[in-house]
Amino acid sequence: MSRAYYVTTPIYYVNAEPHIGHAYTFCVADSLARFHQMRGASSWVVTGTDEHGEKIVEAAAAAGLAPSEFSDRVSARFRAAWDEVGLTANRFVRTTDADHRRNVQAILQRVHDEGWVELREYDGLYCVGCERFLTDRDLLDGRCRDHERVPEKRRESNYFFLMSRAFGWLREHIERHPDFIRPARYRNETLAMLRDESGLGDLSISRPKHRLAWGIELPFDPDHVCYVWFDALISYLTGAGYPDDPGFPARWDAVEHLIAKDILKPHAIFWPTMLHAAGIAPPRHVSVHGYWNVEGRKMSKSLGNVLSPHDVATRYGFEGFRYATLREMSFGLDADLRDAALIERINADLANNLGNLVSRTLRLVERLCGGRIPEPAREAIGSPERELEALAAEVVARVDALMAGLEIHRTLEEIFRLVGAANRLLDLRAPWKAAKEPGGDAVVRTTLHATCEAIRVTALLLGAFLPAACGEILSRVGAAETLEAARLPDDAAWGRLVPGAPTRTGDALFPRLEARKD
Ligand SMILES: [Zn+2]
Repeated sequence: MSRAYYVTTPIYYVNAEPHIGHAYTFCVADSLARFHQMRGASSWVVTGTDEHGEKIVEAAAAAGLAPSEFSDRVSARFRAAWDEVGLTANRFVRTTDADHRRNVQAILQRVHDEGWVELREYDGLYCVGCERFLTDRDLLDGRCRDHERVPEKRRESNYFFLMSRAFGWLREHIERHPDFIRPARYRNETLAMLRDESGLGDLSISRPKHRLAWGIELPFDPDHVCYVWFDALISYLTGAGYPDDPGFPARWDAVEHLIAKDILKPHAIFWPTMLHAAGIAPPRHVSVHGYWNVEGRKMSKSLGNVLSPHDVATRYGFEGFRYATLREMSFGLDADLRDAALIERINADLANNLGNLVSRTLRLVERLCGGRIPEPAREAIGSPERELEALAAEVVARVDALMAGLEIHRTLEEIFRLVGAANRLLDLRAPWKAAKEPGGDAVVRTTLHATCEAIRVTALLLGAFLPAACGEILSRVGAAETLEAARLPDDAAWGRLVPGAPTRTGDALFPRLEARKD
């Protein structure tokens, strides 16, 4: 069986509409899945919606709907948003799905049977926004820091997952696996949380049903439902086919969770300790990205600056947006989405650099070589051609090294070195002039063969990030392989184009975008 690669986005809470923060994570997941698939792995992508909990009950009531109807509606909107922009998953998990419910109950029963669960009386301040009891450090002037609302005084019996017992194990696991939580700043943040255990303690994993009925019932006490985070995290197992799918073990062995930094604690602390208690291996990677601000401000409903995937697809074309955000965000750090910067990035890299290389090369091949890949002339291969070939091999190797460290923005920068070099070769050899000179035919054929090869290799390397455009480029340049069937690094070896293969010109791949006038 081939190697697996399993990547997850968070499952999104259905109390909000899909926005570009969600879309960015999905673009990264999709790119990573394609990247690994092209390198011989069998990729598996999972996303979904998180549908239980008190906040959903509140939002449903505000919309005048039952929680189940409300969840159906918002979950469908997430699915439609991804369909519209061409992002697909192998499994879309809803936490209301029957197989997910079974998995949550099985895991609850197992950790209970293994002695990891205890019933305790709880008396404290509860924030509905957080869906948990708050500690002193969660409060600012008597209000929840995150939700700016006054918590309720509550006294109730809760089941606790005895998470703190596994902190020693977790600390050791993090220290032994430097790329478990990445980038390193989030690994350090997790270790700092573990050093200061007073902020963590054990995890309340139940809510009494008389107060909250919308959830998965505890198998060992029907008067309680499961806490949303405990339920939601298990969706990553459900999505991989746990427990019976024959593909599950290999997927789980290679799982990478992509998250934004606000949900580090559940993923870096709750989740591995839950898995440990259930006798399941922790995830291979928890990979954490920063926030997107919009024009320098935090995205928020009240500011009215929340952008949907549909908004950006209309403004930039979804692949243009996808490229520009992958290129602009240094993975792990916050980034700012500025319209002017995105337009400039799309125009400079895609329209002017890559788009122009493809269109002028293929027009010249059409005019000077009859629309077929030319045979290079050995005597016309000089050091500029040899340098371009060497650069292509160097970029192929550099891309793999950069992607191993999740340096997506630098990967894209690296690939564009090849595009820039191919444009410079074209300018240097000027085949449109050479064609008019006696004996210039060898220069024409050799130069255009080299730039066609550079275009083909570029399309293979960029294919994981810009799949639609690169599939089209491969087809126009007469490549024998499709993006779906291509395997790297072998297919990126120089000289795979077959002389005589038909090429094709077409509409601009990346039309230039106009800056906003205001
Ligand atoms: Zn809160």
